[in-house]
Amino acid sequence: MFDEALISGNFRLVSRDNHPDNTVITVEDVVFGETEIVIIAGPCAVESAEQLITTAFYAKAAGVQLLRGGTFKLRTSPYSFQGLGEEGMKLLAQAKRETGLPVVSEVVDEESTLLAARYVDVLQIGARNMQNYVLLKRAARTGKPILLKRGMAATLEELLGAAEYILDEGNPRVILCERGIRGFSDFARNTLDLSIIPAVQEVCHLPIIVDPSHASGRRSLVAPLARAAIAAGADGIMVEVHPDPSRALSDGNQTLPLPELGTLLPQLAQIAKVVGRNLRLAPEFPYKLGIDNPCK
Ligand code: PEP
Ligand code: MN
Repeated sequence: MFDEALISGNFRLVSRDNHPDNTVITVEDVVFGETEIVIIAGPCAVESAEQLITTAFYAKAAGVQLLRGGTFKLRTSPYSFQGLGEEGMKLLAQAKRETGLPVVSEVVDEESTLLAARYVDVLQIGARNMQNYVLLKRAARTGKPILLKRGMAATLEELLGAAEYILDEGNPRVILCERGIRGFSDFARNTLDLSIIPAVQEVCHLPIIVDPSHASGRRSLVAPLARAAIAAGADGIMVEVHPDPSRALSDGNQTLPLPELGTLLPQLAQIAKVVGRNLRLAPEFPYKLGIDNPCK
């Protein structure tokens, strides 16, 4: 895929040529890049203690391994909800204390990176910042694992080039994330480019997960895309969930109500088996009923 000059040059750290084995990234007891499929779930944005803690307990019961929640939001309009900032990160830390789930949140600048270094376990770089190389290097220097989302118009080389910046800064713990790219779909927010999963795996040793929520923008498309992502070899899924998506302050249209985790996860577990992977389901969770809310 890459020519010789690029392998030994621009992609020397991310290239599989120089590192044939998959990179395995551990976040507490969560492992990316081995047999296990990792499920990340949580609201688009942290909105309140009640919203986050309810979500966290449900997600934990359902078998989710990492809790997500945006606290510094990059919104298209300055009048949209911008996130709770530090308060939101404190709530993530509280949710972790109460459930044991490690937490993921996006960093957008120096201030949010400093806070995330204190309060969160995985720093997310959003699609809009994939090529903000100053931010990539700053986030890398925290030493925390980085969830690097593909820019909405980024090529494979640009995605891997962004990852190379993080590795070059001395941080090898990068998880790539496909989240849909801009095409000419008139029915979905973005177009999920599943072909990048095997394409990345051919040339790069880093784990890659899929975000079917931002890829589709529509609740009804999220589960089918999540299933397809596991079939295509993704190392995990990051999905937006909320106790009441109709009242979500951001991305409600693409957000699953919590009980849908109970339907989706066992389906993903079955598909995982076919592709030689494993998704650990929580034995005590009422998957068969699916609609029960263990938080009540
Ligand atoms: C997100 O995951 O919260 C997000 C904003 O996604 P993206 O950067 O992919 O748009
Ligand atoms: Mn969102």
